[in-house]
Amino acid sequence: MRPDLVAKYRNQRVPRYTSYPPSPQFSAAVTAADYRQWLGQLTAADTLSLYLHIPFCRSMCWYCGCHTSVVEHEAPIRRYQAALEAEIDAVAGALVPDPAMSKGGGLPPVTHIHFGGGTPTLLPPDAFLSLMERLARRFGRPAATAEIAVEIDPRTLTAAMAAALGQGGVTRASLGVQSFDDRVQRAINRVQPYAATAEAVARLRQAGVGGINLDLIYGLPHQTVDSCVQSVVQALELAPDRLSIFGYAHMPSLKAHQGRIETAALPGATQRTEQAAAMAAVLEAAGYVAIGLDHYARADDVMALAYAAGRLKRNFQGYTVDTATALLGFGASAIGRTRGGYIQNLVAVPAYLKAWENGGDGWAVAKGLALSDDDRLRADIIEQLMCRFAVDLEETCRRHGRPLKDILTPATERALATLATDDMIACDKTRVEVREEARHLVRSVAVLFDAYFDPESGRHSYAV
Ligand code: SF4
Repeated sequence: MRPDLVAKYRNQRVPRYTSYPPSPQFSAAVTAADYRQWLGQLTAADTLSLYLHIPFCRSMCWYCGCHTSVVEHEAPIRRYQAALEAEIDAVAGALVPDPAMSKGGGLPPVTHIHFGGGTPTLLPPDAFLSLMERLARRFGRPAATAEIAVEIDPRTLTAAMAAALGQGGVTRASLGVQSFDDRVQRAINRVQPYAATAEAVARLRQAGVGGINLDLIYGLPHQTVDSCVQSVVQALELAPDRLSIFGYAHMPSLKAHQGRIETAALPGATQRTEQAAAMAAVLEAAGYVAIGLDHYARADDVMALAYAAGRLKRNFQGYTVDTATALLGFGASAIGRTRGGYIQNLVAVPAYLKAWENGGDGWAVAKGLALSDDDRLRADIIEQLMCRFAVDLEETCRRHGRPLKDILTPATERALATLATDDMIACDKTRVEVREEARHLVRSVAVLFDAYFDPESGRHSYAV
């Protein structure tokens, strides 16, 4: 692509499309009553993905974009565990068992469990096992093929916790690395020697956790193409199954601690593009398959196979092989999705605890969004673009029982023509395909189908 065209699109601020409609559209009009109603509509034909958010860390990394806070003691984590268990009981109690299904108490089968944060492995090992047991008791044992994934901070993973993860049946661990460069690590307040990451990987493998993902970031302060490449090379020495390579989104107006990062040390847009491309080149030369915007996997990994078969999905964790029909979120700030719509819990931990403790009304729903037919159609189109880089608009509209003209308006046709002229896409009748060299800019194509997009909101990160 011509450099001026790359610059035109990479400077757009567009949603990451981990959901559609994006979470800034959620409102307090959706309440716990809506959530209970949507839960009651799930049937034994559904499948469940369970997400548990653990919003605690030992120290704050300055680039962090997650909902988390620093705790030094175990007591607040134990208290939070009790609230989570109360929420698990209440949500499971709102499902309506199918008497024809004895397995799992007649509830939809659990096909995916994810512990995110924060640092989930700050849970004491017995607390983690207790939560797993509670989930099994209330929702039934997960399917034999279920993926059970946990996000890990290698700096704080103890041998006892690694063993508990293995005992609890965890199949995949995502380890945060970001960069192995000392100078970069100091600039983001995350000093993590290579040996700490290597030891965590060894402990997890020894405990039987087979899937190892490593997360790296480009665009951090003081990063160069060379240091990014060096981090990938070191990461590959640990033989991960998957890597994710995210671009740092510097938004101190939304995350105050990011203001501690020296703005002058941040790479510019051209350098970011070069860093991402150099990291991708090393990974592809090492035999990893590029998946979507930011994932890489061994060719025989289930994510690479799902991508090749057009089964890749996208949710709040990014790209996923999770095909469950409902996502139930537990914990402060956790987001769930059912056919009825999205719900998000209260973000602040004290407010979340209050909802579940001492006779609180027992539901911590802060906001959400009831999905319309138009939302579902556009979500499908955007997910296909994000996951497959192509969509047939006519076929998708037909599947949703909607006329093509609802999507292919004269304004959208004009915008598609501009994208085609700019070498971003190729159009064949109603099929839109993102050109290979423009795939890193796919969000700028997806945004055409976003009925809520406000270019003036300033709430989104740059496209690269
Ligand atoms: S360990 Fe992860 S969640 Fe915790 S502050 Fe650092 S980046 Fe954020």
